Amino acid sequence: MARDYYGILGVDQEATEQEIKKAYRKLARKYHPDVNPSEEAAEKFAEISLAQEVLLDPQKRSIVDRGGDPMDAGGGMGGGAGFGGGLGDIFEAFFGGGAGGARQPRSRVQPGNDALLRTTITLEEAYAGAKKDVTVDTAVLCERCHGTGSKSESKPVTCDQCGGQGAVQEVQQSFLGNVMTQRECPKCRGYGEIITDPCQQCAGDGRVRATRDLVVNIPAGIASGMRIRMAGQGEVGHGGGPAGDLYVEVQVEPHPVFVREGNDLHLRLSVPMYDAALGTEIAVDNPAGEQTRIEVPAGTQPDERVVLQGEGMPRLRAEGRGDMVAHIQVIVPTALSNEERAALEDLRDGCPDEAAVQTEDEAAETGFFSRMRGKFRR
Ligand SMILES: [Zn+2]
Ligand SMILES: [Zn+2]
Repeated sequence: MARDYYGILGVDQEATEQEIKKAYRKLARKYHPDVNPSEEAAEKFAEISLAQEVLLDPQKRSIVDRGGDPMDAGGGMGGGAGFGGGLGDIFEAFFGGGAGGARQPRSRVQPGNDALLRTTITLEEAYAGAKKDVTVDTAVLCERCHGTGSKSESKPVTCDQCGGQGAVQEVQQSFLGNVMTQRECPKCRGYGEIITDPCQQCAGDGRVRATRDLVVNIPAGIASGMRIRMAGQGEVGHGGGPAGDLYVEVQVEPHPVFVREGNDLHLRLSVPMYDAALGTEIAVDNPAGEQTRIEVPAGTQPDERVVLQGEGMPRLRAEGRGDMVAHIQVIVPTALSNEERAALEDLRDGCPDEAAVQTEDEAAETGFFSRMRGKFRR
């Protein structure tokens, strides 16, 4: 039976790529295993992920639109009901599927699935690039039979129940009379051949589950949510078929100092008001542990930003770096000694400025609302 991929995502058949992605994201927020750990949600999440994958692939989607199921293990138009009568169209309308088409046995050797693994790295590792040890639990080639599934040298024999077709015919009663239908051969499970002496290690599957240790090369500049593809490191297929790919999804841990935005690194500097007025320099260690000096110019206002061009994250697989952006927090003293109070009162008495309402124009000039206006230096 073909799955209703449109129904799973709740979109109609005319849905655009955007609409499909949007519907998927909405459902993923509800069923993602990080949000909803129940088994039901996990199943639902797998279902919507599959539906998105199918509907975003034009080839697979066209199979769906023709009433088939591209993810059916049998491949192609799924279900496969063959009919003896000459009533093609009406049968198709009821049963869906190609009338009269002879079913091919499924190849015993199938390509393996891709595998997905998640790993967490620090900002330091994302900055410099890293080699990360991961453990993968996937199907691997059975060492004992090397994927043939047989214990001895003997070759599989043609299935006697289906004669190698992989499918058996059945006559079913219906309101339209007797109907011939085809279904997967229960003896050979659609492969058309039988392994006479199955390997004990893998029970004839040609593969076994095993954990492997791998080293993933994390490129400098990688960001949360990005995936690294490792070709041929996924699941080995049925019958020892070629392995799929392994995808390693990276999550970058929050950093105590830096907040990353694209390739820019933002940080807060706390600057006593004297230093903001007179100017100062503050040493900062970047994520590689290299010291860089941030110059806070004399007269820096609260919330102003100092931008150090090219001192941010390296660009992924490209030249150059983003910027380092320091946000200035001016600290006004709260506990004054008598001497400090006297000194500040002296300063105030000599100052022409007075506390007053400020117009929009004045505000723009004095740089108070200058969040977006940075001071640049190389
Ligand atoms: Zn084996
Ligand atoms: Zn069979």
